[in-house]
Amino acid sequence: MSWFSRKINLTLVDDATGSVFVSSMMPPGELPDSFRINTTLHLGDDDWSVVQAEPETKAEFTKSGKLVLRLRKVETVSPKSLSFTQLDITERFDDNQRLGVDDWITTQPLNATIENPKASGLPQCDDDSEEVYRIASTLSELRESIPIPNDGVYCPICHIANVDLGKLRTPCPKCGRGLLKFGWT
Ligand SMILES: [Zn+2]
Repeated sequence: MSWFSRKINLTLVDDATGSVFVSSMMPPGELPDSFRINTTLHLGDDDWSVVQAEPETKAEFTKSGKLVLRLRKVETVSPKSLSFTQLDITERFDDNQRLGVDDWITTQPLNATIENPKASGLPQCDDDSEEVYRIASTLSELRESIPIPNDGVYCPICHIANVDLGKLRTPCPKCGRGLLKFGWT
């Protein structure tokens, strides 16, 4: 039997916990030629991205008969399952990349786009602005406790956002309320 047809002893390690969750024999033909580029595997109902492969190429693991992959679960975030830390979003994910510190962009209130916003901790569409701001401020405190790269600021009442986190809790240029922490993605 040639070593080309030999099965590979595949071990999948959950990178978050370090535990082995799959150990099985697999024909090399079903595995990618190389893990040097970002690879995502679909297992069960979840997508997993390969953070480390040992060894990295099919030539190597075909020869050694062993492949260990460290995987990280790809969290798919839907607006419904997301635990909200802000009331508004921008239209596109990369909106912040073309903005300077003096540029303001219009944001969209999330509660207009989802059913039963109250169940997700969002204000009702008809809540008054004091109530909206109170909820937004509480959510922002939560977000302020976590360092998140590229966060900016927004006003949940005027629906404007800015990339400069240095403006956090300084007065909104339109209404004077303290600006709150805002994530762009
Ligand atoms: Zn404002």
